Amino acid sequence: MVTHHIPSTLEETLKLLETNLYQVMCGGTDLMVQSRSWANTVPKLVKPLVFISQLSELNFIEETPDYIEIGSVTSYETLLNSSLVPKVLKDTIIEIAAPGIRHVGTLGGNIANASPAADAVCTLIALDAIVEIMSSNSIRTEKICDFIIGVKKTTLKPNEIIRSIKIPNVEHDYANFYKVGGRKADAISKVSLCVLCNVKDNIITKFRIAFGAVGPKVASNIKTDELFVGKTIDEIKNNIDDYTKKYASLITPIDDQRSTKEYRHKVALNMIKAFIETL
Ligand SMILES: Cc1cc2nc3c(=O)[nH]c(=O)nc-3n(C[C@H](O)[C@H](O)[C@H](O)COP(=O)(O)OP(=O)(O)OC[C@H]3O[C@@H](n4cnc5c(N)ncnc54)[C@H](O)[C@@H]3O)c2cc1C
Repeated sequence: MVTHHIPSTLEETLKLLETNLYQVMCGGTDLMVQSRSWANTVPKLVKPLVFISQLSELNFIEETPDYIEIGSVTSYETLLNSSLVPKVLKDTIIEIAAPGIRHVGTLGGNIANASPAADAVCTLIALDAIVEIMSSNSIRTEKICDFIIGVKKTTLKPNEIIRSIKIPNVEHDYANFYKVGGRKADAISKVSLCVLCNVKDNIITKFRIAFGAVGPKVASNIKTDELFVGKTIDEIKNNIDDYTKKYASLITPIDDQRSTKEYRHKVALNMIKAFIETL
């Protein structure tokens, strides 16, 4: 038997977390895999659980002039069915796992789990999303790229919960997510890329890239992105190798059961080239 609470309000949840004794569980699609034990035995959980997927205060999608705000327990399936969710985020979600997992998996879990291969995190970093974090007596916001600090590491404290994710409400001329996995569905990324780009009069006015599974956390560098801004599409295309290589030092993958570092490095750079060729 797993010791657990199923609070009916956010207030009750935050009070429980103040004791620092509990871990939150939302869809459980990362946590249960990480805690798995022998078949038909109790999972090896580090702490008793507080379930949060039932909290209506954290299940919402709202639009303001500045942001699309998504409650942290809103399921991927709900996001796929919302007209408010940016298309590039939906294109990313449809590449995550399979329908069963998407009915319970959440952005809150994808972010808090802080895997370098987390697909939604890759796109949310490119989108410059902001994470809103709550405890019983505080509320704070942090850019998602600062909130995640390493492999499975975030700035979240034991008494805090992710309340929502705020995505700047801006349009992009190009917004693409690319993922290479071992098969077409239900595969963790070997390497992934989200790229956003705006073009006016043939000149690039915004360029933003994030790479998944190429380092200890989803990788991005605004200074490198800015090297593309102000350039004509012809300038970039005529020097495609030079521009692509500007990201080479950002891509520092490892060998693991899914892929090799050489493959990941080469494919990540090829993905940028493939995108540039679509401009
Ligand atoms: C078969 C399978 C395939 C998968 N495929 C993919 C894939 O293709 N791409 C991908 O990116 N992921 C994939 N995943 C991983 C997983 O589905 C996602 O990361 C999912 O978004 C996790 O959300 P969750 O609600 O299930 O998190 P949970 O498992 O409930 O929680 C994960 C972690 O986040 C914490 N947490 C959860 N919600 C909050 C919150 N609101 N505030 C603070 N902390 C919180 C928990 O304490 C835990 O540490 C897959 C998983 C499985 C089992």
